[in-house]
Amino acid sequence: MKRQRNVKILATLGPASSDEAMIRKLHEAGADLFRINMSHSTHEMMRTLVTRIRAVEKACGRPIGILADLQGPKLRVGKFAEGAVTLAPGQTFTLDNRDEPGDATRVFLPHPEILEAVKPGHRLLIDDGRLQLLAVKSDSSSITCTVVSGTKISDRKGVSLPDTTLSVGALTEKDRSDLDAVLAVNDVDWVALSFIQRPEDLAEVRKIARGRVGLMSKIEKPQALECIDEIIELSDALMVARGDLGVEMPIESVPGIQKQLTRACRKAGKPVVVATQMLESMISAPVPTRAEVSDVATAVFEGADAVMLSAESAAGDYPVEAVETMASIARKVERDPNYPGIIFSQRPQPEATGADAISLAARQIAETLNLSAIVCYTSSGNTGVRAARERPQVPVIALSPVIHTARRLSVVWGLHCVVTQDASDLDDMVDRACRIAFREGFGKPGDRIIISAGVPLGTPGSTNMLRIAYIGSDGMSGI
Ligand code: PGA
Ligand code: MN
Repeated sequence: MKRQRNVKILATLGPASSDEAMIRKLHEAGADLFRINMSHSTHEMMRTLVTRIRAVEKACGRPIGILADLQGPKLRVGKFAEGAVTLAPGQTFTLDNRDEPGDATRVFLPHPEILEAVKPGHRLLIDDGRLQLLAVKSDSSSITCTVVSGTKISDRKGVSLPDTTLSVGALTEKDRSDLDAVLAVNDVDWVALSFIQRPEDLAEVRKIARGRVGLMSKIEKPQALECIDEIIELSDALMVARGDLGVEMPIESVPGIQKQLTRACRKAGKPVVVATQMLESMISAPVPTRAEVSDVATAVFEGADAVMLSAESAAGDYPVEAVETMASIARKVERDPNYPGIIFSQRPQPEATGADAISLAARQIAETLNLSAIVCYTSSGNTGVRAARERPQVPVIALSPVIHTARRLSVVWGLHCVVTQDASDLDDMVDRACRIAFREGFGKPGDRIIISAGVPLGTPGSTNMLRIAYIGSDGMSGI
């Protein structure tokens, strides 16, 4: 199954998309990897979804990535005696440490560490900012606030603290237990970390994960932006988590931040996912709005690695249509005459490494000679990521002997990943590359490809050679 586009599609699974037949439909419609949202999924459900995705992968024959998204320190108020209360702007409202049903004057905040961290003058945004409170007094047992705007608050609503640096790490007790469960499955490729604030937040997870999953940092707090370069350096990928980012930051600053993060990740060669509300109206309609189409197109023009569907695929009425819509927008944009000019204007300089020098040369040769594909051997995945960083105008096939590498690379721009044994010698390396390019529909007999590999074969980090080869009449090497 050859996708006619470079940008990848990450689809969130949920009640609308948890049976195997639906997962298969979403994959066939264009979903390259799936997100399991641990905020809404039990361990049992997570394991079931992983098993179903792997069954679809087996049936379809293409490596599929799985991302488990940890909830992170998402703060919520407790419950109300009446389920909800109505407040008036200007009135006083208190969040405290008393585990009792709330009323129109107070509610329980089941996060004692937060009571200390919030200082007078800090904003508290409840329910995605629908209710805005301003802290006027705080101590270890309560935060007294004035209602600035909004009137409604109800059970378990989320609390965002844009002005407060939380002393909590990025991993809550729930996250630790979810992460253990995810690692125990030993079949998940990426873990997303929500609400990270500092580079140190990654260190703890990195230690627990021990390379078994890639770490994707969700950027949704202003604090994370202050040390974004270090966060990018320590992450394996980034998500522009526009949902919570748009609550914690002025909403009009989100598009600029999206551009900044996409560019920084492309420069660093870290995959970047643009997420949230991309086709929001398709939760309940079979067609998107013009504005949504334009939003997806913007991410594609910028050269993001992947675009994400949230409730559209997890809980909407039209999950398959949402994936199809995203895929067709991507195909169209990538064929737009302005696309190369826009995406290539951001092309970063190579770093002084063998992998980058080879990736740049492979792209230039492939474009100059109008070759059918770049084929790169990559066992760790690094060479694949660096080849994609060049954003070549010809397709890139990433060959890896490691299924986990192929699955992890499913989030990376333009890579068509194939699992194959390491080549036994140079002839085998060339034959294998030609055969796979032919079999996967990237070239016909007489077409030429360029192959990058490391000699001695099978040594990680040794990418050091390029070879141009003809696809022979039998799909093998013609030379
Ligand atoms: P969420 O993250 O869907 O897990 O909240 C994405 C976002 O906040 O945009
Ligand atoms: Mn979020």
